Amino acid sequence: MNLILLGPPGVGKGTQAKRLTDEYRVPQISTGDMLRAAIKAGSRLGMEAKGFMDRGALVPDSVVLGLVDERIRAADAQKGFMLDGFPRTVGQADALGVMLEKAGKTIDHVLCLQANNDELVKRLSGRRTCSKCSAPFHVEFKQPKKPGVCDACGGELYQRDDDKEEAIRNRLVTYDTQTKPLIEYYKGKKLLRPVDGLGSMDAVYARIQGALRPA
Ligand code: AMP
Repeated sequence: MNLILLGPPGVGKGTQAKRLTDEYRVPQISTGDMLRAAIKAGSRLGMEAKGFMDRGALVPDSVVLGLVDERIRAADAQKGFMLDGFPRTVGQADALGVMLEKAGKTIDHVLCLQANNDELVKRLSGRRTCSKCSAPFHVEFKQPKKPGVCDACGGELYQRDDDKEEAIRNRLVTYDTQTKPLIEYYKGKKLLRPVDGLGSMDAVYARIQGALRPA
C-alpha cells in the first residue's frame, strides 16, 4: 500500500504514521525527519535547509525532491510506503506523480487529518521531540515516564525550533496557502480520505482504519 499522510503541522501525522507503519509494515518516509537528520549530520543539504525550517518556511524543491526520489527507490519501499509531510505543494505533487510513473507505482490513498488552528497551536507549542528517534511527546497530553527522557529509546527530549511561537504561526500560514490546495488536487483524483484529527490517538487511529477499509 502506498499512502500519503496530509494535514497541517501538529495534527498528529507523525504519531499516526508510526502506528500505520507498524500495522502495514511499510516505511514511514518523513521529509521533515530526513531534513532534521541532514542538519544533525552537518551535511551541505542540511545547512541549506536549516534557515527555512527554523522560520517555518518550506525548503526549496531542489533540496526535497531528490531526497524523496532516492528514498522511494530504496529496497524497503518496494512493498509500499507512507509519505509523511510530502508533498506539501501542488508542484511537489506533480513531481511525485512523475517519479511514481517512472518507478511504475501509484498512490492508493491520501489520508487527510484535520483539526482547527487553536488545537494545532496548543499541540505544537507543548510538543517535545526525542533527539534520537523523533518520537513525539507533549508537556500536557503525553508526558514521558521520566521528565525530559524518551520512553522508547532513552534519548533526550527537546523543543524543535520550529515549535516556537512565531515559527508555528508561519507554518500554519504556509500550510493554508501552499499545502491546503492539495486537498482539492487529490479529491479530483478520487484519492482523498478526510479524517477528523481531534480526540485521543486511539480514536483518530480507529477513524483512519475506517477510512482505509474498502467501501
Ligand atoms: P515536518 O516535520 O513535516 O513538520 O517538517 C518540518 C519542516 O521541514 C517544515 O516546516 C519545512 O520547513 C520542512 N519540510 C518538511 N517537508 C517538506 C516538504 N515536503 N517541502 C518543503 N519543506 C519541507
